[in-house]
Amino acid sequence: MNHQTKDHSWLMNRTAVLATMHQKEQVIAPLFAQEFGVKVIVPENFNSDRFGTFTRDIPRVGNQLAAARRKAEVVLELTGETLALASEGAFFPHPHLPFLACDRELVLLLDRVNNLEIVGEQLSTETNYNHRYVKNSAEALEFAQQIGFPEHSLVVMSDPDTNRQEEIFKGINQPKTLIEIVDFLLQKNAQDTVYLETDLRAMCNPTRMQVIKQATLNLIQKIAQLCPQCGCPGFDQIEQKQGLPCAWCHFPTNLILAEIHQCQKCQFQETRIYPQGKKFAEPGYCLYCNP
Ligand SMILES: [Zn+2]
Ligand SMILES: [Zn+2]
Repeated sequence: MNHQTKDHSWLMNRTAVLATMHQKEQVIAPLFAQEFGVKVIVPENFNSDRFGTFTRDIPRVGNQLAAARRKAEVVLELTGETLALASEGAFFPHPHLPFLACDRELVLLLDRVNNLEIVGEQLSTETNYNHRYVKNSAEALEFAQQIGFPEHSLVVMSDPDTNRQEEIFKGINQPKTLIEIVDFLLQKNAQDTVYLETDLRAMCNPTRMQVIKQATLNLIQKIAQLCPQCGCPGFDQIEQKQGLPCAWCHFPTNLILAEIHQCQKCQFQETRIYPQGKKFAEPGYCLYCNP
């Protein structure tokens, strides 16, 4: 059922341009070199911040996937190459556990020669995504300790709602600098608090860098998934269908009954029923048996 390949001749020994200025090549380049002999290069004149920043000074263009796709298109325009890689992260409360933050990372491959787009994904609760208003530098240092400072950097600003661009201090990773900036903002604006948040840029956040690595591994796996009909790489799930029946009353639950995979070249579809290997849901998930 799973069509996998080790024949990556369409990708072998090519050059891929990575749309980043946040050192994501640290985790992406070795994996692509090892797996496909692909040389990953980073263009010098690419400013990924214009597609949006985590610190809200520049809003993101479109949704997460659209932003990754746009970055990949722009580096191809810039360099005239035919193969691009781009990644985009998003942080939000966990869909089922709202008190837990999670990090969703996408890594996208765009190939103009074969007209392919393949996307790897990782959703992780391993993140230091956090923020706090502090009244003094002692509180700032305490928060810093909680988020894995100084390996993980901080962003400091007076107030995220009324912010002026020149007052966002990013990439703070020295206790001395942190104290100075907190004191400076408290005095300058004569306010009671300053706002701290974790710096989510990949090179300032080793925890996020690891999630990007996981998403890259997922992309490599998807590249190896071939269409059973035409052999095109990137045969991937496009839809999930709910309705796994309850083990007691057989009424459909919200659990996944089937996954639908589709080829982006020939549109061939494959329905994979019982993706978790179970034909029935625990009655605990049933609206009738466990109200
Ligand atoms: Zn196909
Ligand atoms: Zn039931």
